Amino acid sequence: MINNISIYIHIPFCIKKCNYCNFYSVPYKSNLVNNYISCLKKEIENFSPSDEYCVNTIYFGGGTPSLLSFHHLFKIITAIKNEFTIAENPEVTLEANPVNITKTNAKNWKICGINRISLGAQSFNNSELEILGRLHSEKEIYSAVEIIKEYCTENVSMDLMYGIPFQSMKTWTSSLKEAIKLEPKHISSYCLTLEKGTYLSDKKDEYSFPDENMQSKMYEQMITVLEKNKFYQYEISNFSKKGFESKHNLNYWKGGEYLGFGASAHSFYKMKRINNFSDINKYIEELAHKNPPIEKSKQISHREFISDKIVLGLRLNKGISISEFRNKHNFDIEKEYKDVLKKFFESGYLTKQNDKLKLTSKALFVSNSILSDFV
Ligand code: SF4
Repeated sequence: MINNISIYIHIPFCIKKCNYCNFYSVPYKSNLVNNYISCLKKEIENFSPSDEYCVNTIYFGGGTPSLLSFHHLFKIITAIKNEFTIAENPEVTLEANPVNITKTNAKNWKICGINRISLGAQSFNNSELEILGRLHSEKEIYSAVEIIKEYCTENVSMDLMYGIPFQSMKTWTSSLKEAIKLEPKHISSYCLTLEKGTYLSDKKDEYSFPDENMQSKMYEQMITVLEKNKFYQYEISNFSKKGFESKHNLNYWKGGEYLGFGASAHSFYKMKRINNFSDINKYIEELAHKNPPIEKSKQISHREFISDKIVLGLRLNKGISISEFRNKHNFDIEKEYKDVLKKFFESGYLTKQNDKLKLTSKALFVSNSILSDFV
């Protein structure tokens, strides 16, 4: 039997650190990038995939993958094609920063087979963009989308952020509406969280943040505005036009297998969770010594697999199928999680509709604390 698998490629370079970001990234330096791309190619070539797998999604995430030159991107895509069996129409996503969108880049991405762009727009308000430390203005988002659509792909996803200091319901609604006007196929939206060590966290006393009550109202407003405009919510933070859900992320949420290449990339493969070294120098050093750049590898138990699959599956609006767990995984959710289910049915956070368990709309904004009870 052939199984689908996803590939994630981590590109940990950014021109400048955004004020809210704690993802692993380092400044872009051409020598380091050259070295890193050669190591990435090596890592892909050293992996021997078993022939029961077929790659149906490839995702370039970061960092800022749109900083890569054509030559670098092509090198990686070619290495993947040479090593793996690729599905007929794979979804190939590149995360892009509006400042890197030029006609030449967009044309090159198309040549490389990129057929989905995830654009880090975040906000259509210049003061908010400045507070976030983004390098682009509102104006650059409009031209970016125009260029991507004309020279690369119509399949554009946009990231938006709420909970930004000094953001009001009015500016949030306006960002949503401006995004909709540009007709993306997909919108992902996350609430700003203050991560330790970030600029905004260090300077938090100098800013006024929307409180939790306001954040929850912003979340509700987002659902209302997007649904009115025929974006359907298929995951807690993700909305799409019909047929344009992120196949790559759906694979994660359904508990599917994936391979991550690059510094700080993670994999889930043959019931093992594998983490690469985050530090780029350590990653390069290990590959230079012909070692796999793996920091941790853990075989997970059937029980861990099941609880991960429940937690991830409940993020989806479709919920999870009780019978699928029983028949496919020999696991009786209703028996094993009897007390947890009772608690959340009673509090109105969870519903059971026929065979499906789903979070209720009331639970969506506070989902993390609910889902942790299934671990
Ligand atoms: S948010 Fe994106 S562009 Fe900004 S520092 Fe983080 S990874 Fe880089």
